[in-house]
Amino acid sequence: MVKIGVFICDCGGSIRNIDFPAIKEKLSNAPDVAYTNLSSNLCLSQGQEAMLSCIRDGGLNRVVVAACSPELKEHIFQQVLESAGLNSHILSMANIREQCSWAHQMDVTGKALMQIGMAINKARLLEPVGRREIPVCRDVLVIGGGLAGMNAAHELSKLGLKATLVEREPSLGGRLRELSGFYGLETSPGEMLESMVKAISESGDIEALTSARITSVEGELGNFSVKIKGKGKEITRNFGAIILATGYESFSYGIELAANVITQSQFADLLKSPEKVPQKVGLFIDIADEHSRISTLAALSNALALKEKTGSEVYIFCRNLKVDSDGAERLYREVRNKGVLFFKLGEKPPQISVDGDQLRVQVEDLLLGKEVVLSCDLLVMDEKPLPRRDPEILKLIPKVGLDSTGFFQEENVHLYPIASNRKGIFFAGGCHAELDTGSVLVDAANAALSAYELLSPGKIAVEVEKVKIDPDKCRMCLTCIRTCPHDAIRVIQVNTERQTAQIVDLACDGCGICAAICPARAIKFEGYSDEQMLSEIEAIGSAL
Ligand SMILES: Cc1cc2nc3c(=O)[nH]c(=O)nc-3n(C[C@H](O)[C@H](O)[C@H](O)COP(=O)(O)OP(=O)(O)OC[C@H]3O[C@@H](n4cnc5c(N)ncnc54)[C@H](O)[C@@H]3O)c2cc1C
Ligand code: SF4
Ligand code: SF4
Repeated sequence: MVKIGVFICDCGGSIRNIDFPAIKEKLSNAPDVAYTNLSSNLCLSQGQEAMLSCIRDGGLNRVVVAACSPELKEHIFQQVLESAGLNSHILSMANIREQCSWAHQMDVTGKALMQIGMAINKARLLEPVGRREIPVCRDVLVIGGGLAGMNAAHELSKLGLKATLVEREPSLGGRLRELSGFYGLETSPGEMLESMVKAISESGDIEALTSARITSVEGELGNFSVKIKGKGKEITRNFGAIILATGYESFSYGIELAANVITQSQFADLLKSPEKVPQKVGLFIDIADEHSRISTLAALSNALALKEKTGSEVYIFCRNLKVDSDGAERLYREVRNKGVLFFKLGEKPPQISVDGDQLRVQVEDLLLGKEVVLSCDLLVMDEKPLPRRDPEILKLIPKVGLDSTGFFQEENVHLYPIASNRKGIFFAGGCHAELDTGSVLVDAANAALSAYELLSPGKIAVEVEKVKIDPDKCRMCLTCIRTCPHDAIRVIQVNTERQTAQIVDLACDGCGICAAICPARAIKFEGYSDEQMLSEIEAIGSAL
C-alpha cells in the first residue's frame, strides 16, 4: 500500500505569498497521502531530524517535498530518506519557491497546490533504483608532458596516486623549453623545468614515457584500457582517469614581410642576447588576435625586459589593450613608467613598408587624433595561441568535444572548468583555455584533485539501471549511441543472433537524451518514464 508523506517548507519565511494552512487542509483528503507536515527549516538539521522521525513513525514509503529548487537541496532530502532505510529515488519534489512563489503574484496558492498534486501523482509511480559499488583502477594517465602535464602528474603523486605521463617529444617540458621568462612568477622557466623534471624522476609514483604516443583508448571511467606506443614497443595499461594536457601552438601574421619582422617567441629568444637587439623596436598586439591574453602578456613582459636590458626605444601598437591576469595591471604600469610608448590604433589598418634595413610604420593614433610615421629597426608581431591540431586524440577519445575556436570544450566553463563531457576525462593547461602560467599550474592541480576525488577510494558507487534499455524493444538503430554526449552506450551481444544497445552505468551522466530520442521507446529513465510524466500532466488543473 502506498503511504505518501508530504513535507512543505516556507524556506525560512522567504515564501510569504502561499496560504500553507489551506494547502494542508486540502491535502488531508488527498488519496494515498498519509501525512502532511508544515516546516520553516526542512533542510536544516532540526528539520531533517523531524522529517526522519515522521517517515519512521508513520511508516511512509513515498515522500513529497514542496520547497525550493531540487537543484539546491534534493540531495539533502535523499540522504534523509536513506537514513530512514528508504531508497532515495522514492522522493518527488515540487519547487514552490523559484517556480511559484517568487515567480508569480496571482493565485500562487492554487499553483503551489497543483505542483504538489503533480509531485504526489509522480510519487505513486516511483520505483527504487539500486546502487552498486564498482571497483576502479586508481592509476591516472596524463597525455602531454608540458608544464600542465608535469604539474598534474606531480600533484597526483603527492596525493598518493600513480601517474603515467606520455609525451610525444623526446623530452619533457613542452613550450616551457622555449620561454625566456614567466609572466608574474618569481622563478624562471629554466628553473621550473629543472625542478619539475627532478621531482618527476625522483617520484616513485610517476612513470614518464617520452617519444611515446597513445594508439588506442577503450573503456570508461575507472577502467580505461590504453595502448601506448614508444621506443619500438607497444604496451597496454589500465587507468581510472585520463588528464589531457596537450597544450597549444601559435600563429602570427606578417612575419614574411622582411627578416627583421619576427614573432614574440623569436623576440623572447633574441632577448637572451640583448647585445643583438637593435635600437628601435616596435611590438604589435591585436593583429593576430584582438583578445589574446597571452600575446598581450608576451608583448608587455618582453617590452619591459628590453627596456631593462638595453634601454632601446620601444613602441607598442595596440587597439584595445586588456589585461586580466594576476599582476598584469602592475606589469602594464611598470612598462609605461619605463618609457615604452603606446599607440592606440584606430580602424585604419597599420601600413608597414620596408626601406632597406628600416621598417616604416604608419599608424592612425586615436589619442593624438592624427597619423604617426615611425621608423623601426625591428618589428615584433603578436602570436595567436591555437589549439594543438591533433585529430588523432579526438579519434581515439570519442565525444570529447571542441569549442568554436578549436580548444577542448569544458563540460561547464563556470562550474566544471576542467571536466570534459566524458566522466573521468579532464583537461589541464593550454589545451582547453588560454591561461597564464600561474593559472596553468592551478588548473593542472585541479585536474589532479578531481581525478583523486573520483579514484582514491578504489571504488565508485553508481546507480544501477536508472537509465535502462529493454533488449526486446531495441531495434539497434544506434541513434542513442550517436546522440549520447557522454559516450555511455555500447553494443553488446544478447545471444549468437542478436545484439542490443546497453548503457554503461559508470559512464552515464543521467541526462536523459537517449530516453527522449529512442524511436523504439526502448529506453526507460526511472523518474521520467512516460507513465510518470503523464501522471504529472494529469494533475494539472484537476482538484486534489
Ligand atoms: C606563443 C606563446 C608564447 C608564450 N610565451 C609565454 C611566456 O613568455 N611566458 C609565460 O609565462 N608563458 C608564455 N606562454 C604561455 C605558456 O606557454 C603556457 O602557460 C604553458 O607553457 C602551457 O603549458 P601546457 O603544458 O598547457 O602546454 P605545452 O607547453 O604546449 O605542452 C604540451 C605538451 O603536450 C605534448 N603533446 C601534445 N600532443 C600530444 C600527444 N598526442 N601525445 C603526447 N604528447 C603530446 C607536447 O609535445 C607538449 O610537450 C606562451 C604561450 C604561447 C602560445
Ligand atoms: S535508439 Fe533505441 S532502438 Fe536505437 S539502438 Fe538505441 S535503444 Fe536501440
Ligand atoms: S542518460 Fe542516456 S544520453 Fe544521457 S548520459 Fe546516460 S546513456 Fe548517455
